[in-house]
Amino acid sequence: MSNLSEIFGSYVFNDAVMMERLPKVTYKALKKTIDEGLPLDPAVADVVASAMKDWAVEKGATHFTHWFQPLTGITAEKHDSFINPTSNGKVILEFSGKELIKGEPDASSFPSGGIRATNAARGYTAWDCTSPSFIKDGTLCIPTAFVSYTGETLDKKTPLLRSMDALSKQALRILKLFGNTTSVKVTTTVGPEQEYFLIDKKLYDKRKDLILTGRTLFGAKPAKGQELEDHYFGQIKERISGFMKELNEELWKLGILAKTQHNEVSPAQHELAPIFSTTNMATDHNQLTMELMQKVALRHGLVCLLHEKPFAGVNGSGKHNNWSMSTNDGLNLLDPGSTPHENKQFLVFLCAVIKAVDQFADLLRVSAANPGNDHRLGANEAPPAIISIFLGEQLTDILQQIENGGARSSKQGGTMDLGVSTLPNLLKDNTDRNRTSPFAFTGNKFEFRMVGSSASIAAANFTLNTIVAEVLSQIADKLESSGSCGTETDKIIFGIIKEHKRVIFNGNGYADEWVKEAEKRGLPNIKSTVAATRALIDEKNTSIMEKHGVLSKAEMESRCEIMLETYIKTINIEALTMIEIAKRQILPAAIKFASELAASINNIKSTGVNANISAPAGLLSEVLSTAATFENKIKILELALAKVSEKNEDMYDIACYYRDEIFTGMSSLRANGDKLETLVDAELWPLPTYEDMLFNV
Ligand code: ADP
Ligand code: MG
Repeated sequence: MSNLSEIFGSYVFNDAVMMERLPKVTYKALKKTIDEGLPLDPAVADVVASAMKDWAVEKGATHFTHWFQPLTGITAEKHDSFINPTSNGKVILEFSGKELIKGEPDASSFPSGGIRATNAARGYTAWDCTSPSFIKDGTLCIPTAFVSYTGETLDKKTPLLRSMDALSKQALRILKLFGNTTSVKVTTTVGPEQEYFLIDKKLYDKRKDLILTGRTLFGAKPAKGQELEDHYFGQIKERISGFMKELNEELWKLGILAKTQHNEVSPAQHELAPIFSTTNMATDHNQLTMELMQKVALRHGLVCLLHEKPFAGVNGSGKHNNWSMSTNDGLNLLDPGSTPHENKQFLVFLCAVIKAVDQFADLLRVSAANPGNDHRLGANEAPPAIISIFLGEQLTDILQQIENGGARSSKQGGTMDLGVSTLPNLLKDNTDRNRTSPFAFTGNKFEFRMVGSSASIAAANFTLNTIVAEVLSQIADKLESSGSCGTETDKIIFGIIKEHKRVIFNGNGYADEWVKEAEKRGLPNIKSTVAATRALIDEKNTSIMEKHGVLSKAEMESRCEIMLETYIKTINIEALTMIEIAKRQILPAAIKFASELAASINNIKSTGVNANISAPAGLLSEVLSTAATFENKIKILELALAKVSEKNEDMYDIACYYRDEIFTGMSSLRANGDKLETLVDAELWPLPTYEDMLFNV
């Protein structure tokens, strides 16, 4: 690798490039839009477009694309070349401001959740100048928002950008009340930690379930799983570190701040964490990170699995969405400072988050829901499906003091003497960590740990931004109308603690007692994606999304439809894939094994040796009975699927049917298939085993 600082951002039309290549006035105008949120001057676009094209062509690009994030959860691009014919039969390379600002992809094949008539196809993409353009595979990629002809949002970016504006507006109202006259914008920031699995491509290719569904639908538990916890932070194998090295380089070229990498708890599981950036850029970058992980893995004969639960019995993968808010002049609004009990402004922002998470727990829950994540949330490896907040010792203590009449002190972590003169004394954090909490305060940010590994982080972040904006606006309303900001602030903080402390929980979120305790506290425990979708059509939620201009009621409803439809399709594909593997791979292997066994037993009998010992037929009868049950369960699942076509209920009811009948049938079939795996001769077993896949990279 050549010089890292030279590589970093070399394929990004970033601030440094703009400063160098744009005329001063253009640069200044564009910066005002990016940094302070002022409207974009269309005259600026032509100049920027031409500079962008020159830069991209110098870097070897021939095409450009409006890069966007439709509701499929992945990114979309349609490439156009820069060429324009001239009268002398040659071409010139052109790229206009109009082409930069607006694109018109056919929107008809992207999900819209019934928001748009089937025959209406027109959709527009609009340049998002707050996330820098970049070059990928010889194409200049321009991050864009995606809307329908009638203006409804069809993507993940538009609501995210709107929610950032909403939060900025409300946070600035509060800051102003606290005497801040310098900040002009508040930005939400996020650092998403990404978990993933890497397995050998040769094994992957032999598993239809991984190819078609991203997860194993069969697979007996291997003798060794993750119980020794010897993979977590373990030495990184050479093949994996080769992958990580190349991935980092690719990410750095795109200006993505890949920072930390390590092995995770499950065998074959790893994690990558970038340095945080704005929620908008981080979302774009996380999409690119997932794309590049998959691409680079292939170059190393590996496949990167981003599914939330590729393997049963070992931990699945998530994303830790580390979230905070800061002003354009560099103040992190969730930084407690050294004496948080006296830091009223911090306490107001902290309480706003606490109230938002409690009041809109259902919205937050649905922002992390997808079929894959249903395997994780609530299982003993990922956060529970119940939303609660871990605050840690120091802040919990301060809130208690306030509740009891006033806060006088902030507990400090102090230092730790390790008892060895040559080792340094360690400065302790003000609180320990809690890895079981779905929403944990970690010093100067909150870590939302529910998000699934394959999902875009957009929904989690536009939800967080909007619900916090809503509570900030409630607080600002009260403060602005009260004459004395000081006592009113105390009253508000006190009121929020009293009313919403039920959401604060510092204990073990994996424990069964917590489920009972949470129920007593009245906290929702939403166990499935299907159930979670109800939050999207709840009046309490649609009204705040509308109030802050993030999503209309119709847009929320359409997102609900899309989630249900995706759920149904996903489970349907999984069920069909299971049946195919069961009928064409597992059952034939079991029958073949049984017949070989029977032949061997007959052979043994026919020798007449040791006639008083009966032939070992126990295995044969177990294989046969398990195979018979297996065959029966295939039929049951097929029947359940056939019944779907008889249903003409609404989408929600069909989704419930898939969750309660089809999914249950699949689990039952799997149990039997996995038992067969433990009985059938390894030589005859048609699928690579968990041991093969998890321990052989
Ligand atoms: P931990 O080990 O507690 O998860 P790290 O230092 O590894 O903490 O940080 C986790 C992630 O949080 C990183 O991506 C980091 O950049 C991000 N992060 C740090 N500060 C902020 C912030 N103010 N806003 C958003 N994310 C942040
Ligand atoms: Mg973390």
